[in-house]
Amino acid sequence: MEDNNHNSTSAAAISSASELPDLQILTSGGLRIPAHSSILAMVSPVLENIIESRVKRVIPILGVPCDAVSAFVEYLYNSMCTEEQMEKYGIHLLVLSHVYLVPRLKQRCSRGVSEQLTVENVVDVLQLARLCNAPDLYLKCLKHVATRFKSVEQTEGWIFIQEHDPWLELEILRFINEAESRKKRMRRHKKEQSLYLQLSDGIECLEHICREGCTTVRPYNVEPAKRPIPCDKYNTCEGVQTLIKHFALCKRRANGFGCSRCKRMWQLLRLHSSVCDHPDSCRVPLCRQFKLKAQHHELGDDAKWKLLEKKVSSAKAMSSLSLPKRKREEELRALKTFRLC
Ligand SMILES: [Zn+2]
Ligand SMILES: [Zn+2]
Ligand SMILES: [Zn+2]
Repeated sequence: MEDNNHNSTSAAAISSASELPDLQILTSGGLRIPAHSSILAMVSPVLENIIESRVKRVIPILGVPCDAVSAFVEYLYNSMCTEEQMEKYGIHLLVLSHVYLVPRLKQRCSRGVSEQLTVENVVDVLQLARLCNAPDLYLKCLKHVATRFKSVEQTEGWIFIQEHDPWLELEILRFINEAESRKKRMRRHKKEQSLYLQLSDGIECLEHICREGCTTVRPYNVEPAKRPIPCDKYNTCEGVQTLIKHFALCKRRANGFGCSRCKRMWQLLRLHSSVCDHPDSCRVPLCRQFKLKAQHHELGDDAKWKLLEKKVSSAKAMSSLSLPKRKREEELRALKTFRLC
């Protein structure tokens, strides 16, 4: 893949290409690759030092396959590395780019190698990423291990780490642990959000039932429609209507016994009151009474309710932010119409 930011180097390469190579790079297979010292020195400060300090014009780059060294030298000349080279020699190029300080190639290799992670190679790559100080790749390896730990645990790489590098093992286990608790926190948060959102929908339905009525419950002065049409939050609205009907007829409550369904209705009324900003004209029963009591701190658990109120409002705000734009505009329009009436 071409690295466009390296045009200046490529230009230099073209201008120097007319000069004869003045040194050779020796690979472990005995291959000698002719090269220009000016280009090598320009791209890699480490090679620059070596070139300046050596009388002999042969630079050995050993310990990696010949073809990986060829690919490395090619990159020094034209800032390009093919997908095939990356696939075959990605980890070797990563090491060379680290040792000879070629940051762009290192970035490219970090990306390339991270795309080739497997259960079998991830522990080796992780160790390499740590040695080569490649934090992006290291983190990707950790995540890869964390999501497939059951399989990674069986690999030779993992067994090797357990025997030879307990610190690294500990570091990885700690990361997995943290990732797990992060996931748990997220799940808990999502569950809570959906509960608050349900409450917020419940309040909305309660207000709409008290304002214009819905299928089976409506204000006393609203005529029943011939064919009542369920509203668009009917799932919730139906539940609220059932709750209101129960609240009106409950014998347990009338006889002074506690009733969990009545208590829920009571809470919904109170929650509505705490988020209602027009209690004087509001049609929801007990709205004003609850407001007054709250103002005089007669309800006892202000802090708890303030928090609940805040969470319900923010769950609603978050959900309206995630609505598609068209739906949001529709809602805003509806709100405007309502205010104008
Ligand atoms: Zn409804
Ligand atoms: Zn009841
Ligand atoms: Zn109200």
